[in-house]
Amino acid sequence: MRLFVANWKMHKTRGQARAFARDLAAQIGDRPPSVELVIAPPLTALEAVRDPEGRWSLAAQNVAAEAAGALTGEVSARMLADAGCRYVIVGHSERRRLFGEDGPLLARKLARARDENLTPIYCLGESEEERSRGLTAQVFERQAQTLAQDPASAPLVVAYEPVWAIGTGQAAAPEDAAAARARLRKLLANRQSLRLLYGGSVTPENAGKLLEASGMDGFLVGGASLEPSSFARIAGLA
Ligand code: PEP
Repeated sequence: MRLFVANWKMHKTRGQARAFARDLAAQIGDRPPSVELVIAPPLTALEAVRDPEGRWSLAAQNVAAEAAGALTGEVSARMLADAGCRYVIVGHSERRRLFGEDGPLLARKLARARDENLTPIYCLGESEEERSRGLTAQVFERQAQTLAQDPASAPLVVAYEPVWAIGTGQAAAPEDAAAARARLRKLLANRQSLRLLYGGSVTPENAGKLLEASGMDGFLVGGASLEPSSFARIAGLA
């Protein structure tokens, strides 16, 4: 089943999240789910966006690398699972770039997620500079190495998110996303349950072609996931 993840980043109050949930539910109606939807709101809006009918599930955007302790401001995997999360985003480029999260730290976050049966949505992708210097393959290898200790039998979602495509309006060409997919399938050939997503300036206008031509299993969507109708169109539901 295709998977579409809405990453709201630091947007929406609880009231706005409730309105989104109401509108998205109206778009989906009663039809049986043909795709899997996941919403990653800010932690404060998890409860507000939760769907009692289970038409979408919840993800956190981040998780602490420790299980518990004197770590002001952190939120543990246990707390996220208890708050209803099924997934957690790990290694988003904003966390890597703006908060200095590196491979060893991300590997610990992955392990904490597994402790609580949260499925990681692990993000990787090259920067503009890395791409122009022809380093994309090395970046994939290095960032995939972070998954080395993650159990190969556990379900995993990996999102290819080229940094230059995130929030820029410049999505990857479908051929580039297809090449990334092939590269990741090879690098992660040991995984028993792997879904690959593309993320970076996906819109209702480019989604159809990108999905078909790239062969990806779905999308991780930022800006265009803030509007219910736009997210529903990207997921092919409206
Ligand atoms: C993201 O932040 O994961 C993302 C894909 O953002 P956008 O869709 O806005 O490029």
